[in-house]
Amino acid sequence: MLNSSHEYTQVLMGTTVSLTLYEPNETVVHRVFHTIKLLEDKLTVNRRHSEVMSINAAAGKHPVIVSRAVFSLIEQAYKVSLMPNSCFNFAIGPLVKLWKIGFQGQQVPSPQQIHDQLLLTDPNEIELDPKTCAVFLKKKGMEIDLGAIAKGYIADVVKVVLQQNNIHQAIINLGGNVLTLGKSPLDKNGNWQIGLKEPFSLNNELVGIIQVNDKSVVTSGIYERYFTLNNHRYHHIFDPSTGYPLDNELESVTVISDTSLEGDIFSTILYGLGVKKAGNYLIEHPNLSAIFVLKNKTIELVNTDNFAFQLVSQQYVLP
Ligand code: FAD
Ligand code: MG
Repeated sequence: MLNSSHEYTQVLMGTTVSLTLYEPNETVVHRVFHTIKLLEDKLTVNRRHSEVMSINAAAGKHPVIVSRAVFSLIEQAYKVSLMPNSCFNFAIGPLVKLWKIGFQGQQVPSPQQIHDQLLLTDPNEIELDPKTCAVFLKKKGMEIDLGAIAKGYIADVVKVVLQQNNIHQAIINLGGNVLTLGKSPLDKNGNWQIGLKEPFSLNNELVGIIQVNDKSVVTSGIYERYFTLNNHRYHHIFDPSTGYPLDNELESVTVISDTSLEGDIFSTILYGLGVKKAGNYLIEHPNLSAIFVLKNKTIELVNTDNFAFQLVSQQYVLP
């Protein structure tokens, strides 16, 4: 059994990206970070040029042909944006750019500004042509934003890169999107131990430890990207029906799933549904498991066949 780990980190996509291997392998490390950078270059909306930015720049003018990989991700984002009761909306870009949460100039916009930008966030106003991989935003000012799905997609691509390079035990962490590969060499049962951060903890304390085997663990929450004004907290997941940050009883949702793409999509959707409706959704979807951290300091676990959870924080309780 291998028992020493090698962690490599870089700041990419505005977050800390880490890769943990159990044998040093500089070639693989280089390939992984190079892959992430290439995908960030295509998918980012935080720079002037990328494939996604070329779609946004042509809004109201003409369709733009993108690469097959970018088109497939956009197709997935489109599909989940049209799901009934889904708070997920990849046409949310104009609101993200207006509020600027987590960026210089973050602000509470006026109700009029929010109203005006909301008119530009209808995913039905997006046309996709699978034959040519063309994407057309029909109204000027529309912008797509893949921030709630792209890290999941990228983590799954990294997993394939690792497997192609004969790495079968590793952890990929793209700032909250954790993907475990194979069985942990540090545990006799092969389980990985993933820490769940305590929301708003100043010392990086943990709520608990999640144990999984060959699974993705993705958390969406209100405690990483937010600002406070007049005692009100404004975080980065928007309610596409109001244009304001989603407001409910949850501090975070963690989804345990096979792929990081599903985890990224559903951590956002389940957050938006709130704990009760999300619980009902999960009863019908046993392939997804979830940990809900509530503002009243309780934790709810759903579909516990796929993971184990050990509470470590004394601030929270398991009912
Ligand atoms: P999630 O809950 O998965 O997603 C929240 C994000 O999705 C929001 O930040 C917003 O972008 C978007 N969103 C908000 N509401 C909705 C909604 N209702 N439906 C769908 N999407 C919504 N950050 C930087 O600070 N600098 C960078 O240069 C930078 N570059 C990036 C490049 C790429 C390719 C990606 C994928 C992300 C980048 N980010 C950057 C981070 C990004 O802005 C978000 O903070 C991050 O993707 C949010 O991930 P999450 O898992 O915390 O939250
Ligand atoms: Mg997400």
